Amino acid sequence: MSQTTETKETPYKPTSPNSKLDFASVWEYAPAPESSDHVEIKDQYQLFIDGKFVKPSKGRYFKSTNPATTEVITEFAEATQNDVDKAVKAARKAFKGEWSSLAPKTRGKYLYRIARMLQERSREFSVLESMDGGKPIRESRDVDVPLAAAHFFYYAGWADKLDYAFPGKTPEPLGVCGQIIPWNFPLLMLAWKIAPALACGNTVVLKPAETTSLTALKFAELVKDAGVPAGVINIVTGAGQTGAEIVNHKDIDKIAFTGSTGVGKLIQKSLAGTDKKFTLELGGKGALIVFEDAPIDQAVEGIINAIFFNQGHVCCAGSRLLVQEGVADLVTQKLKDRMETLIVGDPLDKNTDIGAINSSQQFETINSYLEIGVDEGADVYQSKCSIPENGYFIRPTLLANVAQSNRVVQEEIFGPVLTVQTFRTADEAIDKANNTPFGLAGGVWTDKGSKIFKVGAGLRSGVVWANTYNKFDPTSPFGGYKESGVGREGGLHGLSAYVKLK
Ligand code: NAP
Ligand code: MG
Repeated sequence: MSQTTETKETPYKPTSPNSKLDFASVWEYAPAPESSDHVEIKDQYQLFIDGKFVKPSKGRYFKSTNPATTEVITEFAEATQNDVDKAVKAARKAFKGEWSSLAPKTRGKYLYRIARMLQERSREFSVLESMDGGKPIRESRDVDVPLAAAHFFYYAGWADKLDYAFPGKTPEPLGVCGQIIPWNFPLLMLAWKIAPALACGNTVVLKPAETTSLTALKFAELVKDAGVPAGVINIVTGAGQTGAEIVNHKDIDKIAFTGSTGVGKLIQKSLAGTDKKFTLELGGKGALIVFEDAPIDQAVEGIINAIFFNQGHVCCAGSRLLVQEGVADLVTQKLKDRMETLIVGDPLDKNTDIGAINSSQQFETINSYLEIGVDEGADVYQSKCSIPENGYFIRPTLLANVAQSNRVVQEEIFGPVLTVQTFRTADEAIDKANNTPFGLAGGVWTDKGSKIFKVGAGLRSGVVWANTYNKFDPTSPFGGYKESGVGREGGLHGLSAYVKLK
């Protein structure tokens, strides 16, 4: 694979008043690839139903590629209605049988075991996550896999303490839960879904995303090795239609969906009039509000993390910068300087900051938004780094000179693209931040606690970070307002989505 560290033809000249370095000539790293020798990828993966790997009833498979090379790495089985039905029956049998009547502390033991095994196999899981999905190994190794294990540890702890979680009430499991997850944090989203469901005594049928099913199938192998009773966890791979079969299955008690607002709306319509419980974790268009009194360098680091983490494929990404007029030029220049230091390239290289865009489809979507931005009159700034010739890569991008009504400001791009707007007063910043259909996350940078409280209270967002961004913890609830979804995952709130209270 080509590397990202060639000398640039036109060396970048930093122009910010505080810049001391010519980044292009100073930031040269030798390649540091993570080995993939220790991971096994089969040529073909089957469905995981009732504790066994089984072939799909129609015998159909679909291919999964490594988006950094565009090479096919394996193929997954396509689950049709019949397969989903088998998975739901297995989950129902397990629910009625052993699982929901198991001593809660024994359920907890299985969850602890899964958490520990994830830690033991963390290198394997992180390499596979980066190969199948394109995210930098540093992120899968330091964020996705450890956080996934942390969710299992956290909910393992609750399994025998549910009476304390809901004082004065008797919590009962819901039954069979259908869970559908996206491609941006495959293993982590699986953990968000499966851990609380099992802790409360439910069983699950989970569908991973088409482009990133590999770690879910590896997880199925781990589940077998952990001796989790058959039927408690079922994993069915497939495209949107497989997800729709889960949503419409009559013997499912709850749907937990994470994905786009468009599909979330379809699901909500399908569920209207049924007694299925549901939670929907949908899209976002987070605002980053930087006041003049903010610690500017800290804010710039926060913005870089907010928009370029995981190639910007983050529901809570801070994709709109709102910067107070007095520091707008300074912040923008420092941001450009910092963007020049970002390394875009091989996801398995430990130096890489921005990996591959997850799929050709998403690559096209992001590029079409860049064209829309140009048509809307935006000034486009992209860092000058080299990018590999093959694979789906996009340089970190700023869109300045944009208006609140522009599509690039209103719609989720889900890529490494940040829009830049200015504001004068806190009220204006709050109005602009709230003026999109979404309400998932936001950030504020200021020296004044009072401003943090004012902005925090004014933002209609499920999460607001102050002087930092993208901090996740299993104890903390996560979810959206408006078109960003319904319900919360994580923490105690995440438990309540998986119980009936009597
Ligand atoms: P998506 O297209 O909505 O897909 C999500 C999942 O739903 C995938 O497994 C998909 O299968 C499946 N699906 C597609 N059509 C379906 C249907 N009609 N019925 C049931 N399931 C269906 O979203 P995505 O592009 O994978 O993920 C990106 C989106 O997820 C972004 O909008 C992002 O903001 C959001 N997200 C939200 C959160 C949160 O917590 N709020 C977290 C992460 C991501 P296929 O893979 O086969 O299409
Ligand atoms: Mg893939």
